[in-house]
Formats: sequence, structure tokens, C-alpha cells
Amino acid sequence: MKIGIPRSLLYYYYPFWQTLFSRLGFQPVLSDKTNTEILDTAVKDSVSEICVPIKVYVGHVLSLMKKGVDYIYIPRLVSIRKGVTLCPKFLGLPDMIKHSLPGISDKVLTHKIQSDSDDISDYRNYTDFLKVFDISKSELKKALQLAKNEWLNFRKLQKEGYKTELLLEDKKELREDGDLNIGLLGYVYNMYERFINMDLISRLEEMGARVSTFEMFDEEMINDFVSGLRKPMFWEFTNKLMAVGYNFINSPLIDGIIHVTAFGCGPDSILGPFLEIDAEENKKPFMTLRIDEQTGESHVLTRIEAFIDLLRIRKRREAL
Ligand code: SF4
Repeated sequence: MKIGIPRSLLYYYYPFWQTLFSRLGFQPVLSDKTNTEILDTAVKDSVSEICVPIKVYVGHVLSLMKKGVDYIYIPRLVSIRKGVTLCPKFLGLPDMIKHSLPGISDKVLTHKIQSDSDDISDYRNYTDFLKVFDISKSELKKALQLAKNEWLNFRKLQKEGYKTELLLEDKKELREDGDLNIGLLGYVYNMYERFINMDLISRLEEMGARVSTFEMFDEEMINDFVSGLRKPMFWEFTNKLMAVGYNFINSPLIDGIIHVTAFGCGPDSILGPFLEIDAEENKKPFMTLRIDEQTGESHVLTRIEAFIDLLRIRKRREAL
């Protein structure tokens, strides 16, 4: 049986899901990397007001339909921290897909994931699988344990500085070093969506920058920050970015911050100004890069080149 997994949004959990489904005897099938065709169908079949990562996701679901899979896995990821939910678009994702793409309902494999941490392996989240598939409780528990091990190893390698985009393709390469340290802020599905962000991380590395991203940080630091907030954000990924954003602002090791945000993102429209104002007060160079389905390569390149030049001039001046 073939289980389609969209290479978009929650694809970050692929090491976990690949192990889980393979161990249960299924064949995980990934959609292709985002390309012009996926993007064009995504834009055509999505509501225009929605954020670009969700549009791209729609395109990946449609591309899996063409691959003849038996199911398309679209979990409802509610939380990865006790009492804090993800952005509402994650909560309504399976319904949105079912209602906006005719004929797909029977193929959507969905269930609720409610977790106290980013380790989403709690057996109670997966009992719906017992109703859909001919598997036993013990097979499911064993597969979940192996998937958990895979996930924890993936997270360990991320924190050691291995490139996330390559780990997801089963390759291991450490992030490049450089004369500038850039704190890159953004949701994983924006930072690692090369087709939409014009391969931003590689471009920065080619320009001689070392790039730090939020998933390289310990959960402990993020938890301490969030529990110290008088009023945390409503959405978990936004809290994580806020914690790391302030870490970048206060770190003397970070030369400048780039916030990659998607057009149409509600949570970022609140987070962005907070960080921008505090970065300015702390004299930390900060650039917002807003991406959408029409973002052009020259636009991204010109802006990051100018930002990198500015940081180098600043650094030279400070060294005098
Ligand atoms: S956090 Fe923003 S970019 Fe992510 S799904 Fe929600 S609205 Fe879209």
C-alpha cells in the first residue's frame, strides 16, 4: 500500500513518518520537489487569500494524486507543547484539503496529533490507524518507538549543525563557515522551500555567511524564554521564532538577522514588527524578506547582497 506524503509544510517530520509507515509495511511516496507545475496548480486550486506555504501544500497534494497513491497522509497537528496550539491553518488542514479538492476525501488519511513536545510519538495519537489498517497494537507501538528513535537522531544532528535540507534527503553535511554570522528566522517550510525562497540558505553561504536557524537551538532555551513571557503568542511555531529571534538580537556573535516570512501569514504580521523594533533598539541589523508565489530571483538576490554588503562595511568600521 502506498502512502503519499506531501513534500511541504510538515515534511520536516519525514524522518519520523518514513520510519513509521515503512515499519508498518507500507510504502511512503513523496511528492516531487516544488516546481513550476506544482506551484501553478497550487495557485489555481487554492483560495487567493491563503498564505503561500498552504498554497504550495495544495500543489503537493495534487501531485501525489497523480502518482496513484492509496492514501495521502494529512495529520491534524494540534500541538507540540502543552496548552499551546499551532497556527489555525494546521488545525484545519485536513478539512481544508478535503473541501477544496473534489474527489480527494476518501484518500485523505488523517488523525489528530496532540503532543507536549516535538516528539510526536505518543501511541494515543495513532490509535485511529488501528481502525484503518490491518495492524496490531504491538506492531504500531514498535513502529512508533523506531520512528521516535529516528526523529531524536534527526534532531540531534540538526543541533550539531548538520544541514536540515540534506538530512531530509538522507545526506550529512555540516553548515558552511563564513566571516559573517546570519541569524535566519523563519518557519521550516519557508526556510527550506528552495523553489519559493530562491535557495536562500545556499545563496547566503555562497556569499560567505554562516547561517544559524531556529532548529539548531535547544528546546530548553526556547522553553525558558516562553515560560518567562508575560503573555506568550497563541501559536507554537511563532513562540519558537520569537525565542530564537531575541536570542539573535542579544547575541554578540550574530552580525545580522533575516526574517523570511510568507505573504498572507497572520502570526508573522504580529511577530515581525516586535522583532524589528527591538532589533533596531539594540542596533542589530534586521531585514524582512517576504516571499510569495511571484517572488523573483533578482529581487531576493539584490536584497541579500545589499544586506551582506552592509554588514561587512559595518564590521570593518567597528574593527577600526
Ligand atoms: S504560521 Fe503563517 S505561514 Fe505558517 S501556516 Fe500559519 S499563516 Fe501560513
